[in-house]
Amino acid sequence: MATEQTALITLFGATGDLASRKLYPALFNLYKKGEIKEHFALIGTGRREWDDDKFRSVVSDSVKGAADSDQQVSDFASHFYYKSHDVTNPEHYKVLKGVADQLDAKYDLKGNRIFYISLAPRFFSLVANNLKQQNVFSDNGFNRLIIEKPFGHDFESAQELNDSLSSAFDEDQVFRIDHYLGKEMVQNIAALRFGNPMIESVWNNKFIDNVQVTLAENMGVGERAGYYDTSGALRDMVQNHIMQILSLLAMDEPNKYKDVEIRAQKVKALQSLHIYDEDEVAKNFVRGQYGANGDQKDYRHEDNVPEDSNTETFVAGKLEFQNNRWAGVPFYVRTGKLLADKFARIDVVFKKPALDDFARANGTAPQLLPSVLTIKIEPDSGFEMQLNKKHVGQGYTTDSFKFTHDLTDSEMKEVPLPYERLINDAMKGDHTNFASWAEVAQAWKFVDQIEKFWNSKKADFPNYTPGTMGPKAAEELLTRSGRNWAFRAED
Ligand code: NAD
Repeated sequence: MATEQTALITLFGATGDLASRKLYPALFNLYKKGEIKEHFALIGTGRREWDDDKFRSVVSDSVKGAADSDQQVSDFASHFYYKSHDVTNPEHYKVLKGVADQLDAKYDLKGNRIFYISLAPRFFSLVANNLKQQNVFSDNGFNRLIIEKPFGHDFESAQELNDSLSSAFDEDQVFRIDHYLGKEMVQNIAALRFGNPMIESVWNNKFIDNVQVTLAENMGVGERAGYYDTSGALRDMVQNHIMQILSLLAMDEPNKYKDVEIRAQKVKALQSLHIYDEDEVAKNFVRGQYGANGDQKDYRHEDNVPEDSNTETFVAGKLEFQNNRWAGVPFYVRTGKLLADKFARIDVVFKKPALDDFARANGTAPQLLPSVLTIKIEPDSGFEMQLNKKHVGQGYTTDSFKFTHDLTDSEMKEVPLPYERLINDAMKGDHTNFASWAEVAQAWKFVDQIEKFWNSKKADFPNYTPGTMGPKAAEELLTRSGRNWAFRAED
């Protein structure tokens, strides 16, 4: 049952791509479901000289495909107001304060304010501090900050940003977006583990051989090339999304399923990550950059990419959590552009028996496959469990089968958009699906070591063909210890 939230959202970057592609559709879904109704308004700001009517028509265009009627769209859009804004001009914040106070009275918003910064990262701390200095906050109700990624480009810059934000907002007022945490199947990790003692009791190094996380894209860098070249796959995907998924997979059970307790367990898990030295980076991390294939240009010839770019479009790595639950269990991760397919999945590979007795009895080569539990994040959402069974017929050989549970089409229609879920959580003050500073800091410390080593050496790029699962070295990362990726392009 929907519980109506009461809040004013002030959105910085309201004319931007993220706002129209993700944020307005997310808010519209909340509106349709009754999570926001009468006691909701949004002030959009951007550099453009728009008025309310222009803003409302842009918002309407971005949501009308999901509407039940034109009336519904115009009712929704009537809650949107626009103020053109220069983030560097303190006077403009005073104007925002005035509009916020008026809307508060008009919609009875009880002083609840969310400031959503969807701007280039260089503006994050400037805006946050101006909000404080020009007193755009309310005295009653809550004042919260939602902030987009990337949160810094290394530990030092992230810490600087965090220090600066914390002079305006306390940690419990800050909601750092990682949209993977808004995905249905990522949120299912905890339910699968802690809702099933049968699973949780084997969730350790006695039974699990290795864990694999793959976030694969089948497109190149496209229009994001300029940004991407300053980031690369490690910063763009591993530091945030993959680290968040790993922390949910590796954490211990929280005492209560509440944000404070969950975050404490995630931080504890991330703090047990072994931070690599140079030799270990060389051994355990692989970088790749795509070459050309047919009409597809190689990365270095994409628009806005320097011809000598050392930026990786692929990364695979092995990580180790040094604690009693996970000692000796490699966590393999990989992500990249222009791979064989677009999908995200987690494969938990269980140990095989020490001896393949069925094969020994029959005098055949070992046949038992590892049991594999797969969490399919997208495009299919569901679970799969691969197990061994007897091969039908005479004799006693074995083969494998899969239990599969996919969300049904009607369930998929009920799945909230990631931003819909996250904005709703922020309005409720629930931090469960946002990255805390301690998590972000730990993730950067791990990633910085890899960047440092990679920056000291020129890479041998390009080194993988579009349409494959990355460079050969990403396979060898596993095969050298007798393992394989559970998902292979040819499967
Ligand atoms: P964008 O370039 O499309 O929009 C930028 C917005 O900033 C515009 O509304 C513009 O008017 C405003 N702006 C720029 N300079 C300003 C100034 N001096 N004063 C006032 N406003 C100013 O950017 P975007 O793609 O919407 O991204 C916004 C944020 O979301 C960034 O932090 C980005 O990293 C993050 N993000 C975007 C995506 C995406 O798919 N677009 C995905 C993940 C994260």
